[in-house]
Amino acid sequence: MEITRPTSLADALEARAADPGADLLAGGTDLMVEVNFGYARPEHVIALRRVDEITEVTDRRVGAGVTWARLEHSDHRALAQLARTVGSPQIRAAGTIGGNIGTASPAGDGLPWLAAIDAEIEVASKERGTRRLPWSDFFTGVKRNALAPDEVIVAAVLPENVPVNQEFAKIGQRSAMVISTVSACVVRDDDGAVRVALGSVAPTPVRARQAEALIAENPEPSEAALAEFARTVSAEVSPITDHRSTESYRRHAAGVLARRLLERCLAR
Ligand SMILES: Cc1cc2nc3c(=O)[nH]c(=O)nc-3n(C[C@H](O)[C@H](O)[C@H](O)COP(=O)(O)OP(=O)(O)OC[C@H]3O[C@@H](n4cnc5c(N)ncnc54)[C@H](O)[C@@H]3O)c2cc1C
Repeated sequence: MEITRPTSLADALEARAADPGADLLAGGTDLMVEVNFGYARPEHVIALRRVDEITEVTDRRVGAGVTWARLEHSDHRALAQLARTVGSPQIRAAGTIGGNIGTASPAGDGLPWLAAIDAEIEVASKERGTRRLPWSDFFTGVKRNALAPDEVIVAAVLPENVPVNQEFAKIGQRSAMVISTVSACVVRDDDGAVRVALGSVAPTPVRARQAEALIAENPEPSEAALAEFARTVSAEVSPITDHRSTESYRRHAAGVLARRLLERCLAR
């Protein structure tokens, strides 16, 4: 296996342009599992660990190369919450948000947060420079995204004024080291508007926009309105039955989880 170790983004883009068939490697916690199970046989790997430009965190950006271990200390409450749930300390020390975005698994725990805050994904290539895609255009299906073969994910770009009132939680088959059966992130603006994003209940992360609209009409919901909110979330998702759970459990859990997170946001 050939391994290229660029030390700048320009060199990484150069390597990617020269061999668009090469596999990008960040922490390797997804890619090496594929290799170990024999699902991937990379002939050429471009290792991104030495590319400093993608490890920066600012008010408006989270670099693709930032590890979950760093994000456990994020000022964004839900991002820190979700980072703490990813795998084990060893996985969080190596795994990155960019790898989560690159894998684009429906169960990727970073994705509901990106959807809830309306992040954009910044990608770059040697030939075409930088482009930014809304999260909803970037994630195109189960483990599919809009990244072109010569591109590298550079960062998640955050909107101005990300609400400080935000909550993430996930449900799995046990309480630690677990892939999400359902995950959810709720953010609440100062004006009371909420955004509700869910994971593991559709091919891509999804927003429950009808449930959001209910709260926009009724920012201080009664018990009955909260029950209607949960029912609406359950109706909006499109989960499947697989080895981790059933369609009906996921649908029910999505509503329960979103309501629980909304109530936490409302209590603040
Ligand atoms: C034991 C275990 C537990 C786990 N638990 C969780 C969990 O709880 N929640 C969760 O969400 N995930 C979990 N994962 C999956 C994995 O850890 C995460 O998805 C992680 O964020 C992947 O990041 P990485 O840097 O290791 O990615 P890598 O494995 O290096 O890369 C993953 C994919 O993204 C691509 N890629 C990486 N960086 C870039 C880039 N900058 N530009 C373009 N493409 C890129 C790679 O080519 C590859 O296709 C777990 C994995 C393991 C092995």
